[in-house]
Amino acid sequence: MPRLASHLGRLTSEGALEVFARARALERQGRSIIHLELGEPEFHPAPDVVEAARKALSDGRDRYGPSEGIPPLREAVAEYLARIRHLQYDAKNIFIAPGCKTVLMMCMLCVIEPGCEVLYPDPGFPMYTSATHGLGAQPVPFRLLEENKFQPDPNEIAAKITPRTRVILLNSPGNPTGTVYDRRALAAIADLARRHDLWVVSDEIYARIIYGGEYESIAALPGMAERTLVVDGFSKSFAMTGWRLGYAVAPPEVVSALTLLAINSYSCAPEFIQRGGIEALRDSAGAVAKMIAEYTRRRASFTSALNRIPGFRCRPPEGAFYAWVNIAGTGLSADELCRVLLEEAGVAAIPGEAFGAAGKDFIRFSFAGAAALLDEAACRMESVASRWIATATAATSREKQ
Ligand code: PLP
Repeated sequence: MPRLASHLGRLTSEGALEVFARARALERQGRSIIHLELGEPEFHPAPDVVEAARKALSDGRDRYGPSEGIPPLREAVAEYLARIRHLQYDAKNIFIAPGCKTVLMMCMLCVIEPGCEVLYPDPGFPMYTSATHGLGAQPVPFRLLEENKFQPDPNEIAAKITPRTRVILLNSPGNPTGTVYDRRALAAIADLARRHDLWVVSDEIYARIIYGGEYESIAALPGMAERTLVVDGFSKSFAMTGWRLGYAVAPPEVVSALTLLAINSYSCAPEFIQRGGIEALRDSAGAVAKMIAEYTRRRASFTSALNRIPGFRCRPPEGAFYAWVNIAGTGLSADELCRVLLEEAGVAAIPGEAFGAAGKDFIRFSFAGAAALLDEAACRMESVASRWIATATAATSREKQ
């Protein structure tokens, strides 16, 4: 076989998918596994969303459509963002794509060039570093540290800006930490972006899933709309992972560039899926509020259960549906601990380093999926804690002295 293109060697996979593959292999051997590795909601979209897509399909809405998305969905997204997120945009600012990841990659293609530097949160969504490397640029981490409540530190970001810096990637609420960036951090980062003439790519896929307060987007701050590309989608807020529907909110010039990329790749997102998206935004069944009420319940009970396990420490997330657990007290590495949890307890979690070097002492659980099994997962983990309990007890008594 001839050689594959070398830029492929710069892309990396996702830790969640690797853990999932091992968990499935164990299941094929007859083992019972509780899947807490994937950020996949167990909910499905409300019946009227499914009906809207079904009707569109039977009405023959299965043709090529506009590459930037159908006008009624672009208008509905603009109206939704004004209603839910206080963002004032027109339909001409909205670009529809098949999936949030797709549109994130396309936005990165629009603003990242070989040789430039891209600031990104560590720990963070693995695609940020993978795609940056893939585009021949240099990812530069800013850390989200536990002692700083996992908030970004604008001083660290300022110190890492160089003449080659082009882009700051943000993700609030963040995967994996669940941090909702506070107003002070957002204002300071916006100030840096304006002063150094940087693009901001703001991944807001979890913006609907917050546990208190109102969501604030950096795009709403003065002077930021012209330099911010917001990316979002339907997977998490509307439990539509497999529908592959996402969007970007950007200046019209960027929407034109994204449209050109679409013309040169997939042509258009399927219209019948977009029609389902319009119904999801309407949310006449109040499905989003019900889903968030359920996540709120799980967040409280699962994080308390995790904090009862010796050597585990977990702040309840401010948003998204992940528990980000400091496991340094177990004395085991995150890799070894995840191996014990999967192979011996049948609980699948992801070692924190899959999200960056700052995740070394952490593991991530998703509570989006297996609601009925979260208590059972905690019991199973407690039952194997004898493997590290002596270390954890010694560490606790050292802390108390
Ligand atoms: N951004 C973040 C932070 C995510 O966690 C995910 C999915 O897990 C995505 C983007 C991609 O979303 P989608 O499944 O809609 O492509």
